[in-house]
Order: sequence, then C-alpha cells, then structure tokens
Amino acid sequence: MSSRVWIVTQLRDGELHPASREAIVAGRALAEALGTTADAVVMGSAVNEVAAGVASLGVSAVRVADRAELGDYVPGPYTETLLAGVADGGPEFLVFPHTYQSVDYMARVAHGWGAAVLSEVVSFAPDDEGLAWVRPILEGKLQARVRLRGEGPVVVSVQSGAFTPAEAAAETATIESQSGPAELVAERELLGIEDAGGDTVDLSAANMIVSVGRGIGGPDRMSLIEDLAAALGAEIGASRPVIDNGWLPRDRQIGSSGQTVAPKLYLAVGISGAIQHLVGMKGSGCTVAINKDPGAPIFNVSDYGIVGDLFEVVPAVTKALQESA
Ligand code: FAD
Repeated sequence: MSSRVWIVTQLRDGELHPASREAIVAGRALAEALGTTADAVVMGSAVNEVAAGVASLGVSAVRVADRAELGDYVPGPYTETLLAGVADGGPEFLVFPHTYQSVDYMARVAHGWGAAVLSEVVSFAPDDEGLAWVRPILEGKLQARVRLRGEGPVVVSVQSGAFTPAEAAAETATIESQSGPAELVAERELLGIEDAGGDTVDLSAANMIVSVGRGIGGPDRMSLIEDLAAALGAEIGASRPVIDNGWLPRDRQIGSSGQTVAPKLYLAVGISGAIQHLVGMKGSGCTVAINKDPGAPIFNVSDYGIVGDLFEVVPAVTKALQESA
C-alpha cells in the first residue's frame, strides 16, 4: 500500500546527501501526525546501494527510479519522474530537504501536480484544526505559523538543521521500482561542478572561535575581529553571508553548509542566529553574543549576551584582554 507521505531524498557524489536524513525524520513525523506511513523516493543512476541504506532509515518503503537519465541532476527528468510517480502512487505530501537542488525543481513539481508549497519548514504540530506549520520569514527574523486551507496535495521542504538526522532503524523497508515516463528529456547538460573552496582550516578542533557575521559590514573592518581573535588566541569563523560576500574564505564558514564546531568558547559577533548557523555551533561549551538587536535569536542560545554596537564593544573587549595579558 502506498504511503500518504513521500520523502524525496537527494544524492551527492553517489551518496545520500546529509539533508536527506533530516527530511526523512521530518517526513516520518508528518506521517505519524497524519496516522499514515512514509515512503522514501530515491532517484539516480546505479543507486542500489543508496536505496538499501535508505531502507534502513525507518521508512515504510523505498521507491527507486534508477535510470541513466537521472545520473546527473537536471530538473526536467527529476520533475517528470516524480510527477509520474505521484500520479501512479497517490501520496498527499512530498517532503524535500531544503537544498539548492530541491529549490531548483520542487516548484515545477508542485505546479505539475497542482500542489500547494510550504518551503523552509522548521516544525509542525497538530492542533484542534489540523496541522500548524512553522517557517522562518524575512531572512529568519520572524517565524510564521501557517495553516493550509482547502484540499489537495502539498509539497514541503524542510530547513537544514531543523530536524535530527535519521539513524538506522531496527526494521528494513521494502524496495520497490518506481515507474516513470518512457522517455526522459534533459533540457540542460551538466558541464561540471567546481568546488567553491576546500576545507583547509579545520575549525572543529579549535578551542576558541571568534565568529563574525554580516553585522561587520565589510572586509575593510575585519581587522577588528582579527585583533580580538589574536588577543584571545582564537580561530576566526564566520556566518555564510560573510563568505558569500567574499569577506573571508569559504573554509571559515560555520553552519549547515559549512563546518560543525564545538569549541569551549564561541564568540558570535554581528550574527543574527539563523537556524542554519546555529546547527553548526550549538555544541559549543560557552556562547557569547555581541549584537545591537536585543531580539536577535542568537541570544536564545547564548550563555552571555552583550547588546551593543560591535564597533564599540569589540575594541573595548580586545583592549581589556590585551591589558590583562
Ligand atoms: P544577518 O542575519 O543579516 O544578521 C546580522 C546581524 O548583525 C543582525 O542580527 C544585526 O542585528 C547584527 N548587527 C548589524 N550591525 C551591527 C553592529 N554594528 N553591532 C552589532 N550587531 C550588529 N548561514 C550560516 O551562517 N551558515 C551556513 O552554513 C548556512 N547555510 C545555509 C544553507 C541554506 C540552504 C540556506 C537557505 C541558508 C544558509 N545560511 C547559512 C544562511 C542563513 O539562513 C542566514 O541568512 C545567515 O546565517 C545570516 O547570517 P548573519 O547572521 O551573519 O546575517
């Protein structure tokens, strides 16, 4: 029997993308809330081994579309395969990990399926009127609670770091072949993938990290952070916008798409505390945040918080450290 919830897994370099494990846990919880079961979908080429691994992650069945045309991700064949699958299998929910790949084609799937879209979900809970979903809005500054209205299928993506990754379960799911269209036409050709920067700095071993966020405002002000890190004997980390803006190299990024760290001291400077950042540093021993916004979510996970302008606070802390050395 087909489940009402299907979890659309993603592969990277022929292996299960870590965000898929989180989507599996979210999909399983959704199925439980709906009183149904969850199946996983695996799409790719030569994916027997991955499918067997997914079968041990607590899903009811694994639906496998194993075709040469699905080897390198391109949206057309993935969309068409899923649309054929849902028409055949009749789920009500497709649950994706919220990754760049999912974002690239899930709206197309939703359009073809006539489904509502709930993206970047971080939690959901049943109440008297059904399910209430929580998703960040305005770049994570607010959390919206939303309810779906009307009937029809739903496409959900779950934010990285919001659900604990699935571990191997006691039971193994059945593996089924997922039928698809006779012909799959790729409208794009993948010419290559380039690594945007290697992990040359291993921040996971650092005892102390001074981590800098967008609040620093530009690369010309980075000496403030360097001076503070030097005074403490700490490594420098960063939130993603700092990396995306080219203010620091990519191997300094901490978070769901960067490094995971657990230093004794984590000093977050001008970082708001988005969930994708928190997932990379929540294992820190002592977290200290400096932020001018008293409502910044980083303060919720901090042992000590300084509400103030980093351009005043950081030089003062550095000076105090230098004087006490
Ligand atoms: P902002 O959210 O813009 O916050 C800047 C903060 O600085 C604000 O709180 C502000 O009050 C404060 N500030 C400004 N000026 C001052 C001042 N003068 N003094 C003191 N405080 C000041 N993010 C990551 O960090 N790591 C990841 O690995 C990561 N992966 C992601 C993966 C995906 C798929 C997606 C969708 C997003 C990811 N993000 C990641 C981005 C994440 O959602 C946030 O956008 C990001 O963490 C915000 O970075 P920030 O806190 O530096 O910037």
